[in-house]
Amino acid sequence: MTCHKCGNQLFVNDQYCSKCGERVKPNVSQHESTVINDEQQPSKGKSPILALILSALVVGLGQLYAGQGLKGIVLFGVWVLATIATAGMATFVIWIINLIDAYRIAKKVNQGKHVEEWEFF
Ligand SMILES: [Zn+2]
Repeated sequence: MTCHKCGNQLFVNDQYCSKCGERVKPNVSQHESTVINDEQQPSKGKSPILALILSALVVGLGQLYAGQGLKGIVLFGVWVLATIATAGMATFVIWIINLIDAYRIAKKVNQGKHVEEWEFF
């Protein structure tokens, strides 16, 4: 904005012109109304907590819920096979990894981030 008297370039917060000393009118329009946007930002609707709970119940279900269908199914298959192959030793480890993964993937999806089909964590 410029001084209406001498045309000197002014800063937004200036109250007086630094060149001629003219009082600067505050640059606030009475007609300018704040547009309140009531419309909520559309959430991706993927709750990380729900993904965590689903994956706690069934390995891969949280991933399936978060949109990684194939990964969820394969994860479940791997979990079952690993459980059989290791006589249950890998069951808990994969279950924990699956929980963390489901939570983090759902969180990313919920934040609107792009998540690859085979992305982990
Ligand atoms: Zn001036």
